[in-house]
Amino acid sequence: MKALLKCKTCGQYTLQKPCSCGGEAVQPYPAKYSPEDKYGEYRRKAKKEIEANQS
Ligand SMILES: [Zn+2]
Repeated sequence: MKALLKCKTCGQYTLQKPCSCGGEAVQPYPAKYSPEDKYGEYRRKAKKEIEANQS
């Protein structure tokens, strides 16, 4: 399942990173979430893996 990203520059939702406008696309989750969020670690790990695969 691909994570839906939101572009910081144009505000469009996209699956691409970076966005087609060249802006940075980020996951549109709140910046702050509970440290007890059991999915938080998974999300961070998944993000790192995606970045590693793209480099
Ligand atoms: Zn954009």
